[in-house]
Amino acid sequence: MAETRHSKVLIIGSGPAGYTAAVYSARAMLKPILVQGLQPGGQLTITTEVENWPGDTHVQGPDLMVRMEEHARAMGAEIVTDYITSLDLSVRPFVAHADSGTTFTADAVILATGAQARWLGLPSEEKFKGFGVSACATCDGFFYRGKEVVVIGGGNTAVEEALFLTNFASKVTLIHRRDTLRAEKILQDRLFAHPKVEMAWHSVVEEVLGTEGPLGVTGVRVKDMRDGSERVIPCDGFFVAIGHTPASELVKDQLELHSDGYGKVEAGGTRTSVPGVFAAGDLTDHVYRQAITSAGMGCMAALDAERWLAGIDSAHF
Ligand code: FAD
Ligand code: NAP
Repeated sequence: MAETRHSKVLIIGSGPAGYTAAVYSARAMLKPILVQGLQPGGQLTITTEVENWPGDTHVQGPDLMVRMEEHARAMGAEIVTDYITSLDLSVRPFVAHADSGTTFTADAVILATGAQARWLGLPSEEKFKGFGVSACATCDGFFYRGKEVVVIGGGNTAVEEALFLTNFASKVTLIHRRDTLRAEKILQDRLFAHPKVEMAWHSVVEEVLGTEGPLGVTGVRVKDMRDGSERVIPCDGFFVAIGHTPASELVKDQLELHSDGYGKVEAGGTRTSVPGVFAAGDLTDHVYRQAITSAGMGCMAALDAERWLAGIDSAHF
C-alpha cells in the first residue's frame, strides 16, 4: 500500500542548497525529510575539479556532494531517493506526491530544485542527443578520445567543458556568439593558452550535421553573426553549454515566479509568495548561481522555516 510520510520540513532537492538546508533544519531538531530527485547531489556531480569551495583548494564535485550528503545524514536528516512529481501548496499540511507512490506531507517546504541544462532548441540537436550531442563533458568526454569536438557557450561551464575535453579530444573548438567570454578570467587564460583549443567568435550553430545509419555527428553548420556567412566545422561530438533554466515546473502555477522562471523570494531572504514555502539556490538565483551561494541560501531557508514554524512571523526576524 502507498505510504504517507509527514515531516515538519520537507526539502526538495539534493544540491548544495538542499543538503545545507537539511544540516541546519536537522540541527534545529526539525527532523527534515529530503527528497533527492533524479540527480542526487545536483549539478556538481557532473563536473570534475571544483576550485572555489572554501576550505578545499581542489575537490572533485561528486566527492564534495557525497560529503554533504553524509553530513546531512549525520545531523539526523532523512534522505530519500525519490522524485517529487506533484506538489500542492494550496492545502495544509502541504502535499507532495513522489514517483514511488509515497505521499509526503509537510508543515513547511524548502524548494531547492536547482536548474537544468539549456538546449539550443534545434531539431537536429534533438535528433542527435545521445548520438554525438551532449550537455555533459564529464559524462561523455571519454567517448571522444583522439576525435574532434565542438563546444558552444561563453560562460564558466562552456570553458570548463572545453578544457576538460582537451584530455581526450585531438581538437576542441569553442563557438561563442560574441567576441568576449563571460567566464572567469583564470579559466579564460587557461583556455586561450591551450594548444588544442580553437575559438570560433561571433558564431552561432544553425544545424548539427550527421549520419543516419548509425546515427552520429559529423559536424556543425555555423553562421558568422557579422556577415551572415556560413561554414561547416567538422566534429564527432557537439557539447551544448549555454546555461541553465530554473527547475520551477513543480510550482509554476502556485508561486510567484520571475518572467524567466526563477522563483521569487523576498529581498534578502528565502520566503516565497506562499507562507511556509521557502526557496533556495539556483532555483531562485539568476545572478550568482554558485555552490557556495546556493549553500548559503539553503542555510537561510532552514533558518527562515524554523522561525516560521515557531510562529515567529516577522517581516524582520
Ligand atoms: P542543483 O545542484 O541544481 O540541484 C538541484 C537538485 O534538485 C538535484 O538534486 C535534483 O535531483 C533535485 N530536483 C529537481 N527537481 C526535483 C524534483 N521534482 N523532486 C526531487 N528533487 C528534484 N559552482 C561553483 O561554485 N563552483 C564550480 O566549480 C561549479 N562548477 C560547475 C560545473 C558545471 C558543469 C555546472 C553545470 C555547474 C557548476 N557550478 C559550480 C554551479 C553549481 O553547480 C550550482 O550553482 C549549484 O549546484 C546549485 O545548487 P542547488 O542546490 O541550487 O541545485
Ligand atoms: P551562463 O553563465 O549563463 O553562460 C551561458 C553562456 O551561453 C553565455 O556565454 C551565453 O552567451 C551563451 N548562450 C546562451 N544562450 C545561447 C544560445 N541560444 N546560443 C548561443 N549561446 C548562448 O551559464 P553557465 O556557464 O552554465 O554558468 C551558470 C552558472 O554556474 C554561472 O553563475 C557560473 O558562474 C556557474 N558556474 C561556475 C563555475 C565555476 O565557478 N568554476 C563553473 C561552471 C558554472 P552571452 O555571453 O552572449 O550571453
